[in-house]
Amino acid sequence: MKKAAQVYDSRENWPPYTYRDYPDIKPETYESFMKFLATENTSNRLMELQPWISICDSKCAFCYFPTTATTKIQIEPYLDALKKELEMYAATKYVKTSVFDEIVLGGGTPSILAAEQMIDLIDFCKARFNINDEYFIKVSGSSKTLGLNKIDKLAEYGVYQVDMGAQTFDDKLRKAMCLPDSAADVEKAIRHARKLGLCVCVDLMYNFPGQTMESWISTLKKAIELDVEIDAYSLHVDPGTILEKMIKTGKSPPPGDAEYEKQMYLTAYRMLTDAGYKAVGHDRFSRVEWHMRENCLNGWPWGGILTTGAGCFMGYLQRFSYSNLEDINQYMETVNSGKLPISRLSESTDEDMMRREMTRLYLRLPVSKKEFREKFGKLPEDVFPQQLQRLKEKGLIEIDDREIRITKQGEVWKGNIAWEFAPKHN
Ligand code: SF4
Repeated sequence: MKKAAQVYDSRENWPPYTYRDYPDIKPETYESFMKFLATENTSNRLMELQPWISICDSKCAFCYFPTTATTKIQIEPYLDALKKELEMYAATKYVKTSVFDEIVLGGGTPSILAAEQMIDLIDFCKARFNINDEYFIKVSGSSKTLGLNKIDKLAEYGVYQVDMGAQTFDDKLRKAMCLPDSAADVEKAIRHARKLGLCVCVDLMYNFPGQTMESWISTLKKAIELDVEIDAYSLHVDPGTILEKMIKTGKSPPPGDAEYEKQMYLTAYRMLTDAGYKAVGHDRFSRVEWHMRENCLNGWPWGGILTTGAGCFMGYLQRFSYSNLEDINQYMETVNSGKLPISRLSESTDEDMMRREMTRLYLRLPVSKKEFREKFGKLPEDVFPQQLQRLKEKGLIEIDDREIRITKQGEVWKGNIAWEFAPKHN
């Protein structure tokens, strides 16, 4: 077996076919999407509904999400526009024939809303969309705005999960990354939510500039002790972020190199699996068995995500993937004029669909040869012979008569594996 370090020079942390690659919407693609929405959803797959509150109190240094500051927007007109957009989708045949099993208030920081506003929005969704008998409500928040009283009200209402961008329990790093609350505040909110029986999922980021391995280990230990689900992401310095400017102007050192980042991932993998977590989905470590079922693992190609709100970018319905206008005022104007506020829209070809099917490997899921043939009339080996051969030789995948799956060694390179199936790798 090859040493992991020799396989690729650096790790890809995202697969291809994300919103970054969608083309700007054109009148003809908008029309094509509207025609699609007038058809029936015959997939028989459960979907996720995502109303986004793309508003935050402040801006975290690494954040590339399109958000608006609370001081620059009035919440009620935004919520009115969001409901109008939700109504537009709810009136279409496709959505009328779809069933949702997750309502996810994302963003942004939905916890900047009062508990009553969040509950009103969820009630609105429940009244207008077909909701499965078994369904889950998830709400994102930061401890700065998710006070204990708000957590009480959400738990009483029936919220299942609170997602928190904890990132690190190291206050020095929190300050350097402009996170708005202290590690003690985050811990207090998590403990309270857990005591009430809520599931808590935290984002933890690694390879911050100046982050030591000790600091990372200590954050992981704290998360394990708090008994939370964990999304462990590697820091990516995106263009236009505060952090990018800080690094360019010498106010911050750069993050660690590719090898250091890989060691941090491997440390997390070892510590979390030793503590009973299982690596699932794209960056999730879970100790809750039912969270590991396929339709819980966000990502393509499942039932779909109907995302709404300014700046949302995770929408996908069958062959269509979309993101919305980022400017919140433009978003509201467009919705109020009766148009869907989509800014970028991609319609996958048959070839894209085959390539995207292979990104199941990125999500640590097998590619079933039978299902692939039923969908596309060919086997993966017929379509991607060189890619599969290359990955097999590198020891990153194994292939048998039934399926293709990543190996243990492939785990650390799953992003790179997914990129092997992108068009540029032909
Ligand atoms: S709270 Fe989340 S969405 Fe808001 S700025 Fe920070 S990372 Fe970005």
